[in-house]
Amino acid sequence: MMELTGKKALIFGVANDHSIAWGIAKAFHAAGAEIGFSYAVPTLEKRVRPLAESLGSDFIEECDVTSDAAIETVFAKAKDRFRTIDILVHAIAFANREDLAGRFVDTSRDGFLLAHNISVYSLVALTRAAMPLMPEGGSVLTLTYYGAEKVVPKYNVMGVAKASLEATMRYLASDLGPQGIRVNAISAGPIRTLAASGISGFRDYQRSFAGVAPLRRNVTIDDVGASAAFLSSDGARGITGEVLYVDSGYNIMGMLTSEDE
Ligand code: NAP
Repeated sequence: MMELTGKKALIFGVANDHSIAWGIAKAFHAAGAEIGFSYAVPTLEKRVRPLAESLGSDFIEECDVTSDAAIETVFAKAKDRFRTIDILVHAIAFANREDLAGRFVDTSRDGFLLAHNISVYSLVALTRAAMPLMPEGGSVLTLTYYGAEKVVPKYNVMGVAKASLEATMRYLASDLGPQGIRVNAISAGPIRTLAASGISGFRDYQRSFAGVAPLRRNVTIDDVGASAAFLSSDGARGITGEVLYVDSGYNIMGMLTSEDE
């Protein structure tokens, strides 16, 4: 569908074949991109390596994004392997399970800082590290959710982190635009992934979502992948600082009543 032939992409955030980052990787591969992968912790390698190799990738490196040294190392390896890159995908988020249940007002200082460190500051750190590898410009993409804008029960600290992520994306887009680097976010509808399983009541999100979204269905990692390929392609060369909704139209609804009610 989209043309990414000749482009090189670094993708952070594949945990398994349910990951949104995996949907993005498959779409990039189908569009002709060469892909490098980075995963969070050593135990993930056994799952990520076979997936990456199935797309012909030989760059599969660990990086805990809370570590500046780890980020420096992974980008030094990427420079050795690819010389330059065209696309950076940030599909990373984390919050303590107890902060994704109960009341937001009870969020601890540590839980708040942890969620923001992993889910938001990492976009700044990865983008800064990627800049020298993008001398001819490029595309940076992150993943957000509607809970950034409206209160979604139990999403709590992650909603606040996503609001910060969206603002971060816009400030980065402003800084990097003069160098031809575009920075955008995809706001995806709820998809059952490892990260999503940490949110209490996630099944209810998906059920009520499909009942009221104009397209009357949940979105898939392949839907997100196709839109990510578009945003990273030259077809989106005039787009930066934008949140693109891949959510079956859910965000346009002003009154959330199901047809079935
Ligand atoms: P996922 O498969 O669990 O991916 C999340 C990734 O973040 C995992 O690979 C995870 O690794 C990684 N991560 C966590 N802490 C990290 C660290 N310190 N360093 C490096 N990587 C780390 O879940 P996903 O749903 O696809 O999430 C991808 C992105 O999409 C997230 O930003 C999420 O908020 C966003 N999003 C998801 C949905 C949804 O409904 N699923 C909707 C909208 C937006 P570990 O497994 O080791 O923790």
